[in-house]
Amino acid sequence: MNAVTSLIPQLDALRAGFLAREHRLFVNGRWVPAQSGQSFEVLDPSTGKHLARAAAGEAVDVDAAVKAARAALETGAWPKLTHAERARLIFKLADAVERNADELALIESLDGGNPLRSTRNVDVHLGVESLRYNAGWATKLTGETALSSPQSRSFTFTLREPIGVVGAITPWNAPFLMAVNKIGPALAAGCTVVLKPAELAPLSALRLAQLIEEIGFPPGVVNVVTGFGHTAGQALVDHPDVNKISFTGSTRVGKSIVTGSAAHMKRITLELGGKSPVVVFPDADIEAATQAVSRTIFFKTGQFCMAGTRLFAHEKVFDKIASGFEDLAGKVKIGPGVAPDTEMGPIISQKQLDRVLGYIAASAKDGAEIVTGGKRVDREGFFVEPTLLANVRPEMSVFQDEIFGPVLCATPFKDASELDRLAQYANDTSYGLAANIWTRDISNAIGLARRIKAGNITINGGAREQSMPLGGFKQSGIGREGGRDGVEAYTELKIVSVGL
Ligand code: NDP
Repeated sequence: MNAVTSLIPQLDALRAGFLAREHRLFVNGRWVPAQSGQSFEVLDPSTGKHLARAAAGEAVDVDAAVKAARAALETGAWPKLTHAERARLIFKLADAVERNADELALIESLDGGNPLRSTRNVDVHLGVESLRYNAGWATKLTGETALSSPQSRSFTFTLREPIGVVGAITPWNAPFLMAVNKIGPALAAGCTVVLKPAELAPLSALRLAQLIEEIGFPPGVVNVVTGFGHTAGQALVDHPDVNKISFTGSTRVGKSIVTGSAAHMKRITLELGGKSPVVVFPDADIEAATQAVSRTIFFKTGQFCMAGTRLFAHEKVFDKIASGFEDLAGKVKIGPGVAPDTEMGPIISQKQLDRVLGYIAASAKDGAEIVTGGKRVDREGFFVEPTLLANVRPEMSVFQDEIFGPVLCATPFKDASELDRLAQYANDTSYGLAANIWTRDISNAIGLARRIKAGNITINGGAREQSMPLGGFKQSGIGREGGRDGVEAYTELKIVSVGL
């Protein structure tokens, strides 16, 4: 882990420089104000106070960005680059991100509130890895020779062509990583991009755009339009000349994107919410399981789509895990993202904080027990205590809804041999993004993994790699990001059949 203490002296320079500047839209390789002249305030969630102002792009700005992306896709330098030249540009972007990793992490921590140790060592680090992984695909995306029977007297092959202009819409919980996870594969596939970052945390996308400019990507290949979801985001979804929307965010907005995309039959990739189960069998490494269960709740203050927020632990180990969580929750260092010892930052906004506290209050009314936490932390900013709720039943909203806060809902189970019943419990929400299983019994582990309807299952804390596609079953999304599937999702498959 990089020492994050050494980053603190850079804060003043950042505040006086990048943060203080007038942030504009990045369209066609130029920095332009929103055509309405409007801007919006970006708050620091650890104080609730002013951090920066960003341009409020609207439909007209999105239209200019889409036109630039279309022109870049079809004319100009971008389509004339060889695959290797395109790869080299993406590798250069990865290098530039790596060189500026400290600054990007600081921006991300100030804007989103997440601890430097995670923005520096997880978000930005994974962003570099993601860009390099996807850069490699630029020279490896190929079609296939299709099987043609001799009687057909044909030779048939497939081509993978860029899907076109991509509208990338990203959330506030991991804005930098989500942006590069979309831009990297889109560029590797030869597409051009209009990125609309979340209004609550748009700053790292703007710094990324500066790096894209410095490296010398042809104008219009990547455009960044900051603004609101219902104006700029919706305009991207509605735009007739956008070929694909790649979205990460709430299931509610995901559904509106499904509807909105239908008008022009846009391709869509949706990475939506989750309410992931963690099933702990009595034979598991309870120490490791407790650590992992707690970490996933503290990580990004629970504002993380894959967070394991529903704990099902066998009754023999339930109390041990609950008291282990309580102990760790009591020790976790809560504070501003940029304080070097912070382990858990604030919630992104007052609205989200109220939402989290509202869920906790509703669960208590419905009969859940607040074992630990449950309250706002008494300091400026949008802080809430890590919270453990017991006696949670499937009909409660805290069991069903994605809370997006540091709230663990816990329920014990009796019979470890009833995999069908356990799976039924684990599957009993509209989501299906991830699941975590802890047991030393391989039959139980695989048996349950096969029964759970989720896109990403870990057993005993298995790790993720860039090569693994990420996405959800049910209402957790459509399609996959990451891996070969992720980059192929930015291509159209064409069959060419030659009569012989
Ligand atoms: P949203 O889904 O509203 O935001 C995600 C992105 O979509 C943002 O860039 C947002 O813009 C944009 N957007 C909003 N409305 C539209 C629209 N009509 N058309 C196109 N784009 C739009 O998430 P919220 O910020 O409202 O968070 C609410 C809940 O969503 C959270 O509590 C959590 O449960 C879930 N969520 C899940 C995420 C995940 O990773 N799975 C990430 C973020 C949220 P803007 O922010 O500018 O309005």
